[in-house]
Amino acid sequence: MPNDTMKKIVSLAKRRGFIFQSSEIYGGLKACYDYGPLGVELKRNIKDAWWRDMVHRREDVVGLDCSIIMHPDVWKASGHLAGFSDPLVDCKNCKERFRADHAPRKDAGTETEYRENGKQDGKKLKGVVGKQGYVCPVCGGGDLSDERQFNLMFRTSLGSVDPMQEIAGAVEELAKLDAKGRRERLGEIIAKSAVYLRPETAQGMFVNFKNILDSSRMKPPFGIAQTGKSYRNEITTANLTFRTCEFEQMELEFFVEPGTDDEWYAYWRNARLEWYKKLGIREKNLRLRDHEQSELAHYAKACADVEYFFPFENESGEGEWGELEGIANRTDYDLKKHAEATGKDLSYFETETKKRYIPYVIEPAAGADRATLAFLCDAYDEEAIPDQKGEDAVRTVLRFHPRIAPIKAAVFPLVKKDGLPEKSREIMAALLDQGVNCFYDQSGAIGRRYRRMDEAGTPFCITVDAETNEQNTVTVRERDSMQQTRIGVNEVVEYIKEKVK
Ligand SMILES: [Zn+2]
Repeated sequence: MPNDTMKKIVSLAKRRGFIFQSSEIYGGLKACYDYGPLGVELKRNIKDAWWRDMVHRREDVVGLDCSIIMHPDVWKASGHLAGFSDPLVDCKNCKERFRADHAPRKDAGTETEYRENGKQDGKKLKGVVGKQGYVCPVCGGGDLSDERQFNLMFRTSLGSVDPMQEIAGAVEELAKLDAKGRRERLGEIIAKSAVYLRPETAQGMFVNFKNILDSSRMKPPFGIAQTGKSYRNEITTANLTFRTCEFEQMELEFFVEPGTDDEWYAYWRNARLEWYKKLGIREKNLRLRDHEQSELAHYAKACADVEYFFPFENESGEGEWGELEGIANRTDYDLKKHAEATGKDLSYFETETKKRYIPYVIEPAAGADRATLAFLCDAYDEEAIPDQKGEDAVRTVLRFHPRIAPIKAAVFPLVKKDGLPEKSREIMAALLDQGVNCFYDQSGAIGRRYRRMDEAGTPFCITVDAETNEQNTVTVRERDSMQQTRIGVNEVVEYIKEKVK
């Protein structure tokens, strides 16, 4: 797709109420977004489809909803407190702060050209690439600070202890310490009340593993599913809702007997790819990418990503593959770590075979915001069709699968008289009564009303006209083919329900 596709999608998303920048009237907040009236329906439909397919339709999966703030020791045991960080570097020339692992690589010792004060400002300077072997991504300079580890978890405090109060009280004591001692003492003070916003929902399933075994009579192989917000203080954010600091996850932890894990990994790896296809994402825009051995987290035995080809603006102008979901074999790492940290027995005892084991975990972890963005990008289409005067015009249409479309049907009275609005309202009420989300519109020419619904991705438009009064029929116009069919008023509800099932 060409470079400007993403621009058009962002513009449509704002114009039609899918995605807004957060706090926009205050100038916005970096990488924070809000879902408008159509966006919230789209995202809900995706999460509902996930829940129905992953929980309701499976006898071997149960749901869970954990609190976002958990005991801080959870993150110590999971490794997030010590290891969940990115190497952060400051450029001494332009003051840019960036991730070392994402910076442009150059051989140490080679000559580099950069701008005084960065970007386009000031005169050109020449320098040498430092021993770190990379340069500032903004100005190209090689005069960089040391790397320091920046933890991605958002820290806050819980309870009535205000760490600021304690720090203020300790100022004299702190002044006597050297820099290292000061950091340590401050760390101690803050740690007393520090809690973290969860960086993933998964740990909630691991720490509730025993509760669920004891309360639900589930036994391996079985899964625990959860959807909810997670938080990561990402240094680099980009591409609308693709990488943001606050995001919503749809995660399943599937517990299996060791030895059967490879089989279950293969099963979920394929099942998750098929899920996106079933909901209408085009096959050519989807792929499964297996991680190289060197990419794997130290606890993972295998991992694959479901990737979507996003029309992001980049140098190639063609778009790029981005991760929608990771499917990982996490082994027994997490349960073992929590068992060690708490002294609780997190093994499973199989009474029939008298076998005791700590289950292995297969984790399909999807992002609800990324999925929403992928469905939006994939649905976007422009079609050349003649307008009313017979001239070439472009029809912008979102070709959502009816199951995830924000609005399933629109109801239009052709004119605002002869009882047509009342008849339309009756049809609306019957649809809403059956849980079909629909929309009423009586303003403007019928052609324009159709176009507005095309841009919202509404699969069906029902028009009530003079014949409705005479023969008790309406026309149903289908979004993609634009074909119109006449059906009886009393058939409408069943007709639409069957199509959006
Ligand atoms: Zn720089």
